[in-house]
Amino acid sequence: MIAAAPRQLGRFQLYCLSDGRFRMDGGAVFGVVPRVLWEKLKVPDAHNRIPMATNCMLVRTPDANILVEAGIGPKLSDKERDNFAFDREPGLPAALSAAGLRPEDIDLVVLSHLHFDHCGALVAPGQDGELAALFPRAKHVVQARELEAWRHPDPRSRPSYKPENLGLLERAGRLLVVDGDQQVAPGIQVRVTGGHTAGHQAVYVRDQEQTVVFTGDFLLVRALLKSNWVSALDLFPLEAMQRKATFLEEAARERQLLWFYHETDQMLGYWTGEGFEPVN
Ligand SMILES: [Zn+2]
Repeated sequence: MIAAAPRQLGRFQLYCLSDGRFRMDGGAVFGVVPRVLWEKLKVPDAHNRIPMATNCMLVRTPDANILVEAGIGPKLSDKERDNFAFDREPGLPAALSAAGLRPEDIDLVVLSHLHFDHCGALVAPGQDGELAALFPRAKHVVQARELEAWRHPDPRSRPSYKPENLGLLERAGRLLVVDGDQQVAPGIQVRVTGGHTAGHQAVYVRDQEQTVVFTGDFLLVRALLKSNWVSALDLFPLEAMQRKATFLEEAARERQLLWFYHETDQMLGYWTGEGFEPVN
C-alpha cells in the first residue's frame, strides 16, 4: 500500500510509508503465551511465522519533513530474505515518492532503536553500486544507550545490530545522539521506553492538543497490548511489562493515538483502558 491519503494531526500531516512485509516466528513474537491463544489473532504459516509490516511514519510539519523509522532496506542476504520471507516491493523510496517527496527533502530521521528491521534502508547502494546515505541532507536521531548497544552488541543481539546499517552515517557525523527524553524538533519528542532494548525509545508527535505515539517495538503488535503478554524478543521482559502499564495508562488518559510499526491489520488506534479502538 502506497500513496494512502495522509492523516491530519493539528497542522501536521502523517503518512504511512511501507518498506514491505516480512514474516517472523510466532513463538519469538509471543514468548511464553501459548500458541493456542495467539494463533487466533495472528494466523501462522506452515513454518510457524506470522506476517509483520514495516509502517514507517512520515511527518510533514510547517518546518520540516521528518521520517520515523526506516524499514529493512535492500541489503539482506538471500538466506535472510528467505528466512524472513521479505517482500520489499515497492519499498521505502517508492513510497516516499508516492507521497510527493524526494530523499533530499527529508530533514530528520528518528529511530526507535537500531535493529536491522528499523534502520536497514538508511544506507543503500547508489547508482554506482557504492553504499551511500539514502537521505543525503538528514540528521538521524539515535538514543545514546542504543548506539552503544549497536557498537558493542551482546552475542544475542549481534545478528540484529548490523554494522553496515549505520557505520557510514556515524563516520560522516550524521547521527544526532540524544541521551534520555528529549524534544528533537518542534512537536516531536522522543521518550525512552526500554523493554525491547535498553535504549529503545517511543516517538511522540504532538500538535494542537493531539498526540500520535509511534510505539516502535515497545508494542510489537496490537495483541501485545494485553498487560501480561510479553514478547520473547524483548531483552528486558519484566521491565517491558511494568512500563507498558504506565505507558498505556497515560495513553488512555490523554487519548493518545497509537501507531504500530509491525502491525499488518489496524495499525492505528486508541487504547481505551479496556480495549483497542481502531482508527482508519
Ligand atoms: Zn522490529
